[in-house]
Amino acid sequence: MSEQIIHKDSATGMPVGTVAVFLNLSAAAVALYTAGTDQYGSPRASWLCLGCGKRGYIARELGASRTEANDHAAECRAIPWPQADLV
Ligand SMILES: [Zn+2]
Repeated sequence: MSEQIIHKDSATGMPVGTVAVFLNLSAAAVALYTAGTDQYGSPRASWLCLGCGKRGYIARELGASRTEANDHAAECRAIPWPQADLV
């Protein structure tokens, strides 16, 4: 299985298709975003933590991915590391 590429909106820094954002314990965003459909045409979603970079590697049904994103936000204390090109 190939790794899913996450395309980000250049204006917001959020994954394209972001439908909800959870805040982790350090106020970093955990983005829940749409991730296409499965072989039966059912919508799928995944998540990305903008604090620690952890992500959902398997696109799941929206409710399951929302739970994973929210659970991660509830335990993660990471903050985004400054980007070299912004310093
Ligand atoms: Zn995190």
